[in-house]
Amino acid sequence: MPKPLEYFTYRDGILSAEEVALTELAEKFGTPTYVYSKEAFLAPLRDLERGLAGLDHLVCFAVKANSNLSVLKLLAEAGAGMDLVSGGELRRALRAGADPGKLVFSGVGKSLAEIDEGLAHPLHSFNVESVVELKLLSDRAKAAGKRARVALRFNPDVDPKTHPYISTGLKKNKFGLQRAEILALLKRHEFAGVRIAGLSIHIGSQILSLSPFEDAFKKTKRMVGEIESILGSPLEFLDLGGGLGIPYRNEKPPSIEAYTKLIRKHFGPKSEIDGRYRILLEPGRTIAGNSGVLLSRVLYRKPRKTKDFVIVDAGMNDLVRPALYGSYHEIVPVEAARGKGKRRKCDVVGPVCESSDCFASDRPLADRIEGGDLVAFLSAGAYGMSMASQYNTRGRPAEVLVDGEGYRLIRKRETFEDLIGSEVFR
Ligand SMILES: *Cc1c(COP(=O)(O)O)cnc(C)c1O
Repeated sequence: MPKPLEYFTYRDGILSAEEVALTELAEKFGTPTYVYSKEAFLAPLRDLERGLAGLDHLVCFAVKANSNLSVLKLLAEAGAGMDLVSGGELRRALRAGADPGKLVFSGVGKSLAEIDEGLAHPLHSFNVESVVELKLLSDRAKAAGKRARVALRFNPDVDPKTHPYISTGLKKNKFGLQRAEILALLKRHEFAGVRIAGLSIHIGSQILSLSPFEDAFKKTKRMVGEIESILGSPLEFLDLGGGLGIPYRNEKPPSIEAYTKLIRKHFGPKSEIDGRYRILLEPGRTIAGNSGVLLSRVLYRKPRKTKDFVIVDAGMNDLVRPALYGSYHEIVPVEAARGKGKRRKCDVVGPVCESSDCFASDRPLADRIEGGDLVAFLSAGAYGMSMASQYNTRGRPAEVLVDGEGYRLIRKRETFEDLIGSEVFR
């Protein structure tokens, strides 16, 4: 088990979320079901807040990691802002009760409708990633008699040393503006509808060492100096993005404490820049990743000569990360006793008709795990349900939020009628 899974532990031999046995939840809500721990969301947020104490800051949860309204409400009530990458996420954040002044509208391709929708609310800022987008935003804001606060998203060209699909801060990536683009646009005076007040970066996800962050922070500071000398006025805030990794297996990501210490070293009151910028963070995985598990039931175990196939009732439509990124999720039996004894190599697969519908290959699993048993995919709280689809006409899972010994269904399992509801058919 990945080490700091404080909120999902065995109690009397049964894997539990906080104080609730997953067997009880499976019985009540069926499988597959995402199960979250309230405390597990709040603890990393508190650690980030503690690490940044004394520095003007705003932690904006990256909604795309887990966009359930109840999760957003929980985090908003704890003081978090939100990082949004679509108009839909903006609506979710507002519906969940987030403070508009703590919302950051990011995204590499905002549509006109999304820009207008963003402008209709007093958001903290827009993160802008291209010159044409800046022009469009400026024009729309001006037409609405507004001046939008903007951070330019800077692509610092650093290698986050993570999976290529989740690295975003390299020159070759589609994200952000390069130094030369930023310098050129600042010399144009056609953006009267915006105020360039910040610089943002986001170099990738599941980053497991501090050095890419440190490289990016240094380049950001240099860029800020250049921007300010052209603008002739200081920026107000720096958005340092998300990306801090979590343990899925035996990775040792930097602690939140070490990460925030690095931020203070570069941007805090004792740094050469004297803490004069408000610091924004956009963590997604750091907050949600180890806050949820996907609870699933084994349908069949199919023995083969070299290895067994363990077929579970969750599929790649429910949790796509292994198929999409080849990512690792710990798979554990809910009843500890089923995990005892001899192990045998298994492929853990779902029922979807794709060979990539495979959660793990050659994974040593206990002999005793068989059809009818419950298993949990750990570390599934981020980019789990939010990436789920209905492929194979499979309703997406239910979601349950556990709080101590209490729990609440926060999303019903999709029914067949939900699946076909928007089809035009007569
Ligand atoms: C996805 C994303 C994040 C969150 O990334 P994590 O790795 O989950 O922390 C933050 N900011 C932006 C702009 C993103 O696209």
